[in-house]
Amino acid sequence: MTNPSRHVVITGGGSGVGAAIAECFSQAGFQVSIIGRRKEPLEKMGKKIGAAYAVADVTDRAAVDGALEDLRAKNGPVTIAIANAGAAVSKPFAVMSQADISSMLDVNVTGVFNIWQACLADMMQENWGRMLAVASTASLKGYPYVSGYCAAKHGVLGLTRAVSLELAKKNITANAVCPGFVETPMLEASVVNIIEKTGMSRQSAEDGLKAGNPMKRFIQPHEVADTLLWLASAGAASVNGQAISVNGGEV
Ligand code: NAP
Repeated sequence: MTNPSRHVVITGGGSGVGAAIAECFSQAGFQVSIIGRRKEPLEKMGKKIGAAYAVADVTDRAAVDGALEDLRAKNGPVTIAIANAGAAVSKPFAVMSQADISSMLDVNVTGVFNIWQACLADMMQENWGRMLAVASTASLKGYPYVSGYCAAKHGVLGLTRAVSLELAKKNITANAVCPGFVETPMLEASVVNIIEKTGMSRQSAEDGLKAGNPMKRFIQPHEVADTLLWLASAGAASVNGQAISVNGGEV
């Protein structure tokens, strides 16, 4: 077998966990491409690590296809697709609208489907591939006030498990990583939301979120990135359809 392309595409690669993943794969010598909706963070990250970037909303399949056309022209066929883009909206179940839950499913599930399926032909052609998703502890257990997010992140695992079985004979694996609370802009928004809604101090808000992690700390973005790098390695060739916890043993 010839060596497969080492082109990795990371959605949401301009900030937070996605930026750490982009940096980690770049340092490991991969051709890195990043996708997101805002050009500015993508451009900044692209310059910092020498990555290609394209602006696209992962919920829009035509936009994802267009972005991949540009990125393939720069970095070749995509053999590693990391679906990291995601969003979390906090609202009590009693007052959630259909639009609220649809928006959670769109970005967190359909977004994963779009990038994975759009990269499938490249992986089949290269006879090698890694479909990876940044899921969550919210894929493995429930949390109050984020039922839409939990439903969507559980859905990511269902998708991962089914796809892993369909592609197992093609040298293509599908796996998900399930982090606890990671120190990123998304977490900062949650902390601010708790402070505003409850009037508690920042310290109490952060301690409350850390309480679920037996290590009593936030996960660092590079810890998620390092796990994905391992899943993309030759050594993880038989790891398929798994939900890998990166959460201090919370679940
Ligand atoms: P973040 O800092 O808010 O980053 C999310 C990234 O996704 C941004 O770069 C954003 O860029 C991109 N994105 C969001 N919606 C998008 C869309 N529709 N199309 C394209 N890109 C989109 O959050 P993060 O904490 O790094 O989250 C990354 C992943 O980790 C998410 O899937 C999240 O659910 C998961 N996760 C996070 C935590 C945590 O505590 N932080 C815990 C467990 C799992 P644009 O806004 O420019 O599009």
